Amino acid sequence: MANKTLGLENRLYDYLQSVSLREPEILTQLREETAQHPRSRMQIAPDQGQFMALLVQLMGAKKTLDIGVFTGYSSLVVALALPPEGKVVACDVSEEYTAIARRYWQQAGVADKIELHIAPAVETLDKLIAAGEAGTFDFAFIDADKNNYDNYYERSLKLVRPGGLIAIDNVLQSGRVADPLEQDNITRNIRAFNQKLHHDPRITISLVPIADGLTLALKRP
Ligand code: CA
Repeated sequence: MANKTLGLENRLYDYLQSVSLREPEILTQLREETAQHPRSRMQIAPDQGQFMALLVQLMGAKKTLDIGVFTGYSSLVVALALPPEGKVVACDVSEEYTAIARRYWQQAGVADKIELHIAPAVETLDKLIAAGEAGTFDFAFIDADKNNYDNYYERSLKLVRPGGLIAIDNVLQSGRVADPLEQDNITRNIRAFNQKLHHDPRITISLVPIADGLTLALKRP
């Protein structure tokens, strides 16, 4: 799981960041703290975060889903891009990782915009659907356990409005998806998932090769 953009040599990637990255100090601090974490590769790339913030602003999003919080970068970068009344519904199973996230959300002054649910995300999403929230979200980011991607995608597709956007992370798996010798479970599941989305008539699709591959799926009316 790369947290820099695949296929760009370091010098060019550094240049890209030097002329485009406008990372708020609080996000830089969070990224630096997370870099010390043994699972730091689960963090999204800063240029990817900035891209997602731009998408959310472009859409005028107010209500979003963050499936897979880890130490909170994706929730925070989106929350900062939302209007004051905006809301992020964040799903994760780890109290330990999200304790770091909460600390940064507080410090950034957006803790009241982020509603954290500690439970398997499928349960949280099913509860939202049962509570009548289908069609009410503008944006969803899927970045939790890869073997559940299809479950997260199907539920997100219900929860976003027509014209809403689902962004799915790590769809290139550091390049493993394109190597037929790679036959581990996650790679096979992501391959099948990518193929399914390619032909899914419910969405308009673009696979953006930013970070570890980010598929954008726009829900058709
Ligand atoms: Ca990821």
